[in-house]
Amino acid sequence: MDASLQRLNVHLASVQPSATYRMMDRVAARRAEGANVISLSAGEPDFDTPAHIRAAAIDAINAGHTRYTPVAGMRALREAVARKFQRENGLDCSWQDTLVCSGGKQVIYNALAATLNAGDEVIVPAPCWVSYPEMVQLCGGRAVIAKCEHGAGFKLTPETLSQAISARTRWLILNSPSNPTGAVYSRDELRLLADVLLKHPHILVLSDDIYEHLVFDGAGFATIAQVEPRLAERTVTMNGVSKAYAMTGWRIGFCTAPRWLLDAMEKLQGQQTSGASSISQHAALAALEGPQDFIETSRRVFQARRDLMVASLTATPGLRCDLPAGAFYAFASCEGLIGRTSKGGVPLRTDEDVALALLEEANVAAVQGSAFGLGPYIRIAYALDDQALRQASDAIAEFASACR
Ligand code: GLU
Repeated sequence: MDASLQRLNVHLASVQPSATYRMMDRVAARRAEGANVISLSAGEPDFDTPAHIRAAAIDAINAGHTRYTPVAGMRALREAVARKFQRENGLDCSWQDTLVCSGGKQVIYNALAATLNAGDEVIVPAPCWVSYPEMVQLCGGRAVIAKCEHGAGFKLTPETLSQAISARTRWLILNSPSNPTGAVYSRDELRLLADVLLKHPHILVLSDDIYEHLVFDGAGFATIAQVEPRLAERTVTMNGVSKAYAMTGWRIGFCTAPRWLLDAMEKLQGQQTSGASSISQHAALAALEGPQDFIETSRRVFQARRDLMVASLTATPGLRCDLPAGAFYAFASCEGLIGRTSKGGVPLRTDEDVALALLEEANVAAVQGSAFGLGPYIRIAYALDDQALRQASDAIAEFASACR
C-alpha cells in the first residue's frame, strides 16, 4: 500500500483519543473476557430515562416524526430551550437565540470550529474534561491550560485568568459543576471572573453547564451570562438533557449564543450532521416541558452516593479526596500510592499505572487524573447504585492496602 494513503489531517494526527472512552472500551474488553468489572469510568447517570420521556419518543415514531428537522432544531424544541434558559437561568432568550445539536459535545465543537483560526488561543482551566483541549487542537487552535490549584478548590481565580489572557485569546471555557473535580463556582466567584473578562472585550466565553442540576448541600447554580448580562453578547451558554434527565444516549445538547455565532454554527452543522435525531428531539421536548421531579430525585440520590463514596475514599490508605460540591465525580489524589508496587507486582509510577492496575487486579475502572490535566489523581464517577459503590470502595480499599 502507498504509505501516503494513511496521511491524516495534521490537526487530527496529534489529537489524543478520548481518555474516558478508552477506559470504557477497556471495561467492555475485560467484561467480554468474563471479568466482573465495576465501572466508575463512564460519566453518565445509571438511571433509566423517565417513562414519560421514553413514551414521547415512541409516540413520535408512531406519529411519523421520523424525517429531517430544520438544522437548528424543531421550532417547538427551540421554544422549550428558550423557556428553559429564561426559567432556570434568568437569561433573556427567544427561540431564535438557540441551537439544538447532537449532544453537548457538538455544541462545543461547532462553536470552536466556527471561530478558531491558526494561532488562536483558548483558555482551558484544568483539571478539565478530556475533550476540551483536544477539540481546540482539532479546530486548529491552541489550548492554553490555566492550572487551578487544589488549594483554590480546583477553580480558576481572577489572577490565573488574567495571567492566561493574551492578544490571541479567543475563548475562555468555563465548566461548573466541573468534570472531573465536581467544583462549583459561586455567583461571587463568577462575578470576579466576569470583571476580568469585561476588561478584555475580544474574548468569547463558553459556559458548559451540563451538570447544572447536580449541585449539592443546598448551594445554588449560577451561569456567567446571568451573573453579568453584559457578557451575554459573547457567551455560549451550553446545556443539554443528558445529565439532567438521564438521556446520554439520546444525544441532545443545546445552547443560547449571539446570533452571528449561532448562524455560523448552524451553517457548519448543516454541512455536517444536519439536525439532531427527530425522535430524540421529541424526547427532549417532553423532558424540558414535562414534570421536573426527576431532577430533584436524582440530585438527592447522587448527593447520598457522593457522601458514601468520599467517606470510603478518605478512609483508604494512599488516597485523599475532598468533598465535591457538584456533578457525580470524586477526584481523588493517589499520590500516596505512587512509587509503590501493586499486589500483582505492577510498579505504580503514574496515575495511569494506578488506574490500569486497579482495573486488572481489583476489577474497578476509574480514569486517571492526568487525562484531565492533573496527576496523580483518579476520577471516580459514582453513578452506580449503593451496593455497587460499596463493592467498588471495598475493592479499592483492598487494592490500596495491598500496595507495598
Ligand atoms: N462526559 C462523560 C465523561 O466525562 C462522557 C464521556 C465523554 O464524552 O468524555 O465521562
